Amino acid sequence: MYDPLHDRSPGQGEPYPDSYWAAHSGAAPADDGVLTQGLDVDVAIVGAGYTGLSAAYHLATEHGVKALVLEANQTAWGCSGRNAGFVLKSSGRKPYAQMQKQWGEAVMRGVYHEFQSGLDRVRQLISLGIDCDQQEPGYLRMAHKASMVPTLEAQARLLEKTFGAEVELLSRSDVHQRYVADEQSFGALRFADAFGVNPLKLAWGYQRLARGAGAKVHTASPVLQWQTDGRMQLLQTPQAQVRARKVILATNGYTPKQLHPGVQARTLPVLSQIIVTEPLSAEQLAACNLLTSQVVMDTRALKYYYRKLPDNRILFGGRGAITGSDAENPYYAQRLLEVLKLSFPALRTLKYDYQWSGWICMALDDIPHLYQADAHGDVVYSMGYCGSGLSFSVQAGKRLADKVMGLPQPDLPLYQSALPKFPLAPLRRVGQWGYFHYGKLKDQWW
Ligand SMILES: Cc1cc2nc3c(=O)[nH]c(=O)nc-3n(C[C@H](O)[C@H](O)[C@H](O)COP(=O)(O)OP(=O)(O)OC[C@H]3O[C@@H](n4cnc5c(N)ncnc54)[C@H](O)[C@@H]3O)c2cc1C
Repeated sequence: MYDPLHDRSPGQGEPYPDSYWAAHSGAAPADDGVLTQGLDVDVAIVGAGYTGLSAAYHLATEHGVKALVLEANQTAWGCSGRNAGFVLKSSGRKPYAQMQKQWGEAVMRGVYHEFQSGLDRVRQLISLGIDCDQQEPGYLRMAHKASMVPTLEAQARLLEKTFGAEVELLSRSDVHQRYVADEQSFGALRFADAFGVNPLKLAWGYQRLARGAGAKVHTASPVLQWQTDGRMQLLQTPQAQVRARKVILATNGYTPKQLHPGVQARTLPVLSQIIVTEPLSAEQLAACNLLTSQVVMDTRALKYYYRKLPDNRILFGGRGAITGSDAENPYYAQRLLEVLKLSFPALRTLKYDYQWSGWICMALDDIPHLYQADAHGDVVYSMGYCGSGLSFSVQAGKRLADKVMGLPQPDLPLYQSALPKFPLAPLRRVGQWGYFHYGKLKDQWW
């Protein structure tokens, strides 16, 4: 599998992975195909995931700029077409309590507001006619051990008091009776405003909107070399060169090694793995009291997440391999199935039908950053969603569009500083390996 820390390109025109989404979404919508002729454009966007497509859509609809999107493989071939489809009001991994301590209440509120705007923006774009199999609203943050219940209680107090958020604390028996008899749950905090979607159909919907507004989306057109000529950016694809005044770098966890010096060594791509089981029978659903299609994630440092899909399969996810060369090892999918069965012992004979993985993008300081990659601000990026980018990437696309048009950004750490560099960047994977071991101990014992 493509490994962003080792490979110079994610490929050209590679097919989608064998995911449940690729098998259950119908035909991909039309795009503009391979770029075959040289062009001179105001704005080029590298990467056709949520970030790039949202930037293209907002540039066209709010600024009248028809951007050129260059995608190495297929639309949403990266994370956007292979995620779990949890639309949450969050991004990054930094808890609000920490933001409050580090930055003060006003900044914490500002970040919350941006995350809220991301969720609202997804809803608003879906309302324009995107069919993405939206499921019932609700997100259950499950305490994976009794000692996590006070943490959820403190989180509920902060969210209710500071933001008036709609959250509900649930005991283990509430969870078991009203939602799902998850043997690993010790209670949950329920957020009312999240929901599940088919992520690939959502991305395709964004592409239709962006193209409908005048953007071009060229697939199978990787940027292989990047040079500058004065203030012009020269992007070399296999068959043609693009000269652009501004470039939006929307490659997140799929950013190849040495694509642009401004983002080099500032992210850590980490594999997240998903399995989708065979459909559950009525008896199996009853045995687990799996009443809900709300999205579920636990409180572990190394999180597991799941949801019931519209055809009664369970999508279950967690961490995957460390390197791209080990990504296809069936051990990781099998391990997820075993963890699923700890939650639902009645499903001991259940098998999985689909398994795949993708590169989430970790930031050293656990928050996404939208910033300039060069001295003039001709190249801008938004990256580092830390595995939670479904809604914020769309807000980031709007902010990126504003930024290339010279509009100011909110005075928040998300927008006012570059992604911090990883110290000892060549050893990032060693650090990740160490964190996985620490996480395992923490999740079990502390
Ligand atoms: C298994 C998994 C589960 C996840 N689940 C959730 C979830 O439930 N909820 C949530 O909020 N987030 C989730 N995420 C994270 C979320 O999917 C991402 O944050 C989001 O999709 C990032 O979108 P993006 O557009 O920034 O990047 P991507 O969708 O990764 O797009 C980047 C694109 O850039 C292209 N590219 C790279 N290099 C080049 C080049 N040189 N030239 C041209 N194109 C290039 C790639 O081919 C790719 O298509 C999950 C991620 C994974 C992997």
